[in-house]
Amino acid sequence: MPFPSDSKPDSQVEALIEKERTRQTTGLQLIASENFTSPAVMRATGSVLTNKYSEGYPGKRYYGGNAVVDEIEAIAIDRVKQLFGADHANVQPHSGASANMAVYQAMLKPGDVVLGLSLDHGGHLTHGSPVNASGIFYDFRSYKVGVNDERIDFDEVRRLAHEHRPRMIVAGTTSYPRRIEPEPFKKIADEVGAYMMFDIAHLAGLVAGGAHPNPVPFADVVTFTTHKTLRGPRGGCILSTKQHAQAIDKAVFPGQQGGPLEHAVAAKAVAFLEALQPEFREYAHQIVKNAAALAEALAMRGFRLVSGGTDTHMMVVDLRPFDAELTGKEAQAVLDTAGITLNKNTVPNDPRSPFVTSGVRIGTPSVTTQGMREGEMSTIADFIVTTLKGRNDPAIIAEVRAKVAALCAAFPAYR
Ligand SMILES: *Cc1c(COP(=O)(O)O)cnc(C)c1O
Repeated sequence: MPFPSDSKPDSQVEALIEKERTRQTTGLQLIASENFTSPAVMRATGSVLTNKYSEGYPGKRYYGGNAVVDEIEAIAIDRVKQLFGADHANVQPHSGASANMAVYQAMLKPGDVVLGLSLDHGGHLTHGSPVNASGIFYDFRSYKVGVNDERIDFDEVRRLAHEHRPRMIVAGTTSYPRRIEPEPFKKIADEVGAYMMFDIAHLAGLVAGGAHPNPVPFADVVTFTTHKTLRGPRGGCILSTKQHAQAIDKAVFPGQQGGPLEHAVAAKAVAFLEALQPEFREYAHQIVKNAAALAEALAMRGFRLVSGGTDTHMMVVDLRPFDAELTGKEAQAVLDTAGITLNKNTVPNDPRSPFVTSGVRIGTPSVTTQGMREGEMSTIADFIVTTLKGRNDPAIIAEVRAKVAALCAAFPAYR
């Protein structure tokens, strides 16, 4: 009896997976970093490749039996290089965080000064949070968004770069709704002799689809996650110039990781091919159009949008003008009961703590994958307003919950 799980299925976990599928497909998924990946991507993720050890790189593995895996990883590398026009790609990082740590290990020494966007202004944990390895091993200094326009202020980035003389400048954000031009970062990095890294974790799908500028021609290194706007499996990827190729490969393995997740690498290859199709360009542009429509609908209903709007797949919504008493924490909780999933988020210079917050972050990648367009965005804005206004009335919340389920049934993520 080699497979006990075959004779006695794990009904407990399977039932929970079914329950999660129901949650995902009957509610609105508005978390900006999430998406629905394709059945083909999920087939690769759930394939026999999970059984294989492949430490090393195509043609240079530590174990035998890697001829097929070599072909798969080489395809993933070729496709992602083509997608972004990169000279070198490493497709093995288990996540966006692992990709960033590998880049730091490849290009920095512990204690080196790095300049990145402040976390409470939209930067990521791996851009120098004191509780993250990036902040523990490297000396991160941060730039903030402007007080008035809430946008990255390149005069300020330049001033801080000349003051702190970083070895690396990190561009890229986790909750910043505006287009980011890569050229000014490159120019400032050159002025102070710093490397430039652009972390497009959130933006990768928009860049691939031509809806956001591609930083690859400007940056020394570009990192991203494959599971956000790019719509692939959970994972990370690093692109770089030829100059840094060897150091980056060494930093990923054996520097940071052991055996790669080749089932995830195969799924990345599938997702890269999907992103190379002309339809993906349309998809990426529709994500942005939907975000703009939702942002406008919310602004018309009394919310304030951080930076005044969005150019990307996401918006940060300041709840205070809508309802001074309403916190991001409470909004997240009550919207969840109405089947609307999003996350609380600080607004720049938020008087409330990161656990409470005065805002929420909303993203449109998942609903766009479901085929929703601008018209559905104003319906969603109405659902949000009705829920928040009726937050003490269970009947109102139940009514919205039913309408949300009906909308999702009309736009199924999986047929
Ligand atoms: C999501 C994100 C990451 C980390 O990705 P994980 O796969 O969760 O580790 C890194 N950088 C930025 C800017 C992100 O938004």
